Amino acid sequence: MGEQEDSSLPPHVLIFPLPIQGHVNSMLRLAKLLCLAGGVHVTFFVSDFVHRRLLLHASSSLRHPSLRLQTVSDGLPADHPRSGASVVDIMPAIKNVTAPMFRDMMVNSDCLRSCDRRPVTCIIADGVLSFAGDFALERGIPLLYFRTVSACSFWACFCFQELIDAGEVPIKGNGMDLLVKSVPGMEGVLRRRDLPSFCRVDDISDPIFQLANTVTRQTPRAHAVILNTFEALEAPVLCHIRGPMPNLFTIGPLHSLLNTKTANIAPAASGSFWEEDRSCVKWLDSQPEKSVIYVSFGSLAVVTREQLVEFWHGLVNSGQRFLWVMRPDSVAGQDGGSQVPAELAEATEERGYIVGWAPQEEVLNHPAIGGFLTHSGWNSTLESMVAGVPMICWPMFADQTVNSRFVGEAWKLGLDMKDTCDRVTIEKMVRDLMVVRKDEFVQSANRMTQLAREAVSEGGSSYCNFNRLIEYIRSMVGQGETWPILESGLSGHPRPVLETPNLLT
Ligand code: UDP
Repeated sequence: MGEQEDSSLPPHVLIFPLPIQGHVNSMLRLAKLLCLAGGVHVTFFVSDFVHRRLLLHASSSLRHPSLRLQTVSDGLPADHPRSGASVVDIMPAIKNVTAPMFRDMMVNSDCLRSCDRRPVTCIIADGVLSFAGDFALERGIPLLYFRTVSACSFWACFCFQELIDAGEVPIKGNGMDLLVKSVPGMEGVLRRRDLPSFCRVDDISDPIFQLANTVTRQTPRAHAVILNTFEALEAPVLCHIRGPMPNLFTIGPLHSLLNTKTANIAPAASGSFWEEDRSCVKWLDSQPEKSVIYVSFGSLAVVTREQLVEFWHGLVNSGQRFLWVMRPDSVAGQDGGSQVPAELAEATEERGYIVGWAPQEEVLNHPAIGGFLTHSGWNSTLESMVAGVPMICWPMFADQTVNSRFVGEAWKLGLDMKDTCDRVTIEKMVRDLMVVRKDEFVQSANRMTQLAREAVSEGGSSYCNFNRLIEYIRSMVGQGETWPILESGLSGHPRPVLETPNLLT
């Protein structure tokens, strides 16, 4: 094939997620959606580590003629666990190793130009990868930031300076139940204990707090911001975010939008880093309707042996059936599976099932599932909402502490178990969710499912905003360095589809 003139080639979008499961999942879904829309080339940047995992466990989700993968080192040694406490090593490694490599690759390839691809016409960078934003802006390449977290937790991080000025942060472990006053739109909902976990420091010079603050505060320099949420869910907070970031695309829940666009023929690209153990679906097939609580703490969280035992006793004592994801690396000390007390092993045999990794979206949509004991990662929260499954939230870090508060207090979709981990509380909450208050939670979960599905259906807010995003990406082609940095207002940019009602009462 001869070289084509750039001008006859479609737009070329570079998508660059932070190389961890939750971020890759949602940004891969966006990549697939852009490819399916047609007339767009996508290059998806992944670390070598993630690439190997995807090829092993999710290769079908990578197949599309318009989708190309580009690999780069994440700067960590091959045997680094990349989970639990050590996950914090990722950011400095990326800054020191990946960032300069990315720059060299882009410069040396004339921004990924090839015989059948234009140089990149816009960069959709994970909002936490500010070096990709630096590169885009220096080169005059239109920049969109994608934040993989909820609007409420993003906005709470965006207000760190206001929280500091008001003396509400740093949280030194005191006044945890005081209501927070300096996050506009969340008055009366958020307590200090619900703020992003980075705030739980004695001193604001804490490097992780500082990092969360700076990466979030630089978001408005992008031409547009994409959030994996929907208007009816987070309207009150979104209207505050639109102050400093007027060009905001709410296009979630992305997995559900992808299902809509593929007419549910194939389950949305999961992008799993582990092999999905499908035997649990077979086990669920033989369980009564809404009788099983699904337990998973996501891809990164690590529990201590003591916490594991408390959860196990609580689940067993609740008398409910349970399906539990225990990743091989999810218990500190690595010997999690051994020395299980006999009474737990016996009860698990009777009414429990344990897997190393599950096809989560499919599990949550299984009729046997009646509840989800979750760490409140944003993808898991959205997946549960769409499936209409009420939640018990046990958040561990980052945005999860905010999400769990909204699930329990604002959206009434379940119970927030934050900062406790004892078998008595767990047993009671599981019973409350699955039996005592079942009807109440199922009703609000169903209401939420309907709103989420409306948002991604033809004419819904996320559906229309996604189409608007495509138009926006097409309109950037050939603009090169003349593409204007947004100052204020929406002029010149397609208008968002907004929706009430607002669920934050
Ligand atoms: N997930 C999965 N199988 C599992 C556990 C999790 O496919 O057994 C997926 C889940 O569907 C979600 C992602 O892993 O899309 C986890 O992302 P989330 O934002 O919930 O949490 P994180 O792992 O980033 O803490």
